[in-house]
Amino acid sequence: MIYLDYQATTPVAPEVAKVMQPWIEEKFANPHSPSRWGREAAAAIEVARKQVDKAIGLKGGSVAFTGSATEAINWALKGTVEKVPKGRNRIITLATEHAAVLDTCEWLAGQGIDLTVLPVRHDGRLDLELLARELDDRVLLVAVMMVNNEIGVTQPISEIADMAHSAGALMFCDAVQAFGRIEICKGPDLVAVSAHKIHGPKGIGALWMRKGTEPAPLIHGGGQEQGLRSGTLSPALCAGFGAAAKLADERCTRDYDHVQKLWKAAVHALGHGWKINGSAAHRYHGNLNIRREGLDAARLIADFRDIAFSLGSACASGSGRPSHVLRALGLDYRQSRSSIRLGFGRYTKQAELLDACHRLAKAAVEHEKLDA
Ligand code: PLP
Repeated sequence: MIYLDYQATTPVAPEVAKVMQPWIEEKFANPHSPSRWGREAAAAIEVARKQVDKAIGLKGGSVAFTGSATEAINWALKGTVEKVPKGRNRIITLATEHAAVLDTCEWLAGQGIDLTVLPVRHDGRLDLELLARELDDRVLLVAVMMVNNEIGVTQPISEIADMAHSAGALMFCDAVQAFGRIEICKGPDLVAVSAHKIHGPKGIGALWMRKGTEPAPLIHGGGQEQGLRSGTLSPALCAGFGAAAKLADERCTRDYDHVQKLWKAAVHALGHGWKINGSAAHRYHGNLNIRREGLDAARLIADFRDIAFSLGSACASGSGRPSHVLRALGLDYRQSRSSIRLGFGRYTKQAELLDACHRLAKAAVEHEKLDA
């Protein structure tokens, strides 16, 4: 299998699996128990917390572990609304956000929050003048992702955070696709990340919270995470997340350079006739979302069982619905059904990527002929 779906998930790093193993096979103690074993597990979790915090790289806040980035996002949005100062009842977000943000915002709108979903430009970037016009003293939160999961386009997070703060609002950033790949921009008050996008295990995410902006708890119970999030933590998942974060931090430049090289090689190998969806410059280059006139993307995926790639997000691929992100760029139904996403990273070999690109490009030409 040639795995080109790095935005959906990433292979677990061998170093991560090794760190997790003893916590699965031998060390089963509850990290919240006062026994020696329990304290040992709790200490391992604190090491992991520091590793994730360091890799996030922001100052003046703390990390709380969650069951996923989806949970961290729900917590950040709903918990901030719960603590809202009087008179602030508006959330601003973008049409290209992940479903975890958009659906949570829609749910909050059903509870009485005034929701503004801003459009993006054709290149997928937010028009900052539009945001400036929208910001007022009723806005409590601006929620914008750093790297889009479907098209890889980046947003100017620091500028957005500055603008939000000037209006007295908080800034939440979904940094799931940025974390471990590019440096997280300074400025946000709340940042959601996920382990399985950085060669860590599935089933664990985290919320970074600037001191003083911690959201109200979403999950109630034993209060294990600083009294803010309940549930017994998994030492194996936490240790795995920590190891993945440490590795990503250490390999940051090497992984980034590798991805830049792969991007250039892939674009060259695909040849003419492809258009890049979203800005080619303002993006993370491990995400190559492209379209081609006449291409039947769903058929291409079905035809190439030995190449794992996708139509956009894993969610969009599953539903059969055209991607809301591509529609937000102004692509029509046909264009979005002619788009594919190739995602690559640390363990992708250039030769396998080129092999996949050559075969996909050849098949796309065949589709064109059939379509003519
Ligand atoms: N946000 C973005 C941008 C994502 O790509 C994903 C995962 O697909 C999520 C949030 C949700 O992450 P998790 O799988 O940890 O819930």
